[in-house]
Amino acid sequence: QGYTVLKDGINRWCIPKFGKMRVDAVIYVNDTLKELLYEDQSLKQLVNAASLPGVVEPVIGMPDIHEGFGLPIGGVMAIDEGGVISAGAVGYDINCGVRLLRTSLEAAYFNKELLSKLIERIEYYVPTGIGKKGKHKGITRVIFDDVVHRGVEAVIKAGFGKKSDLEYIEENGGLSGADLSAVSKEAQERGEEQLGTLGGGNHFIEIQRVDSILDEKLARQFGLFKGQIVVMIHTGSRGFGHQIATDYTKILWEAAKKYGIEVPEKGLAAAPIDSKEGKAYYKAMAAAVNFAFSNRQIIMFDVMKAFEDVLKKSSESMGFQLVYDVAHNIAKWEIHGGRRLLVHRKGATRALPAGHPQNPSVYMNSGHPALIPGSMGTGSYVVVGTEKAAETFYSVNHGAGRRLSRNKAKKISKEEFEKAMGDVVYNVRSYKDIADESPLAYKDVEEVVSVLEKREITIPVARFVPLAVVKG
Ligand code: 5GP
Ligand code: MN
Ligand code: MN
Repeated sequence: QGYTVLKDGINRWCIPKFGKMRVDAVIYVNDTLKELLYEDQSLKQLVNAASLPGVVEPVIGMPDIHEGFGLPIGGVMAIDEGGVISAGAVGYDINCGVRLLRTSLEAAYFNKELLSKLIERIEYYVPTGIGKKGKHKGITRVIFDDVVHRGVEAVIKAGFGKKSDLEYIEENGGLSGADLSAVSKEAQERGEEQLGTLGGGNHFIEIQRVDSILDEKLARQFGLFKGQIVVMIHTGSRGFGHQIATDYTKILWEAAKKYGIEVPEKGLAAAPIDSKEGKAYYKAMAAAVNFAFSNRQIIMFDVMKAFEDVLKKSSESMGFQLVYDVAHNIAKWEIHGGRRLLVHRKGATRALPAGHPQNPSVYMNSGHPALIPGSMGTGSYVVVGTEKAAETFYSVNHGAGRRLSRNKAKKISKEEFEKAMGDVVYNVRSYKDIADESPLAYKDVEEVVSVLEKREITIPVARFVPLAVVKG
């Protein structure tokens, strides 16, 4: 392939710059996960990203890295102010992310029958599957406009949730700079219909049990205890973000030619941050970011309603509280080493350590929770970043990461699938529809999470196991 991969300390590997690379690439894996790197094009994609103008050392691959469009999933690319912005380095599902809700409910009381009722009721409120339209009649064009520009504050004003929720969302649920005038009519039409929907395949709403507490003090700060019921929501900006990504990949590809920027593949289409096209992408991306935070807010509201209907208690008396909502497909301005950088995270999660000024005030003393789903049949984690996470631009893996391509995973047999699911209750009628989402399709989350823990970049706080899952 032309590049060498050198060991560079505990669980860290380096591809020293060569050819057109402007900076080194670094990958965080252990010896076992390293073998998987050669099964797809992810290393080549990191090498390509390292050639973009303005890229800051190093381009990073997270432990859950796998091939994506342009930048690999599990990729982190920081760019300085004179450099470029790339839609492919944010991803098609702009602000795909995870939200965690806690309750005061004890999992011991949740049998299969109750769990089935709950997921049925959740699906009654939250449309699932690709291309589904939202059910909330109250979401008018006026509200949609407001949501896109201001984010969650606008949906709270429209009745979904409470003002204090904002403290528990990255960017307080609203990235500034969003502008609908940079968004195509087509994207707007898709967006208006899809607010409050889960989407397809990999997206989920999962009822989980806190299986183990790994750091007592941090868990207490996050309100987590062993045996507790928590709910994890994973979705993004639906057709709205997808259309924006599609539109701007074309626009930025043309712009790259216009400005004479050498882009190694279409997936990395990029334009100068301060060019007309670059600025327009940022405005549109921020709109999709706000849409996605709001989407998860509406879904949280619907999940709480479903619990209220089934358990015949108010959400307050069940102790429902948002723990955190964090993006894993986003580009954001941040200060690193005294420099202002546009950090592209694609399938990577921000994880600020305790005391970092960009933490929400509620988590200033702990560092905010970083959420790491594993699969619908294995474990999921909440971790926090440490000071050492500075070497990853305060980023951690966003999941276990795909091990098998969707096509390969489709071949998983019914027996294997059911064995991997164990006692977990799920909504899907035919296993065929979600064979590619089987736990076997993903890497071993324990192994993946241990990579950054051993390097002291993260502190695991709690581990969750799935009880019931609504799959998109
Ligand atoms: P992505 O955003 O890349 O589609 O997915 C993020 C991560 O979520 C995946 O890498 C995988 O580890 C995890 N994941 C996918 N499906 C499920 C699920 O149904 N439940 C849980 N807990 N995790 C999942
Ligand atoms: Mn997504
Ligand atoms: Mn995602």
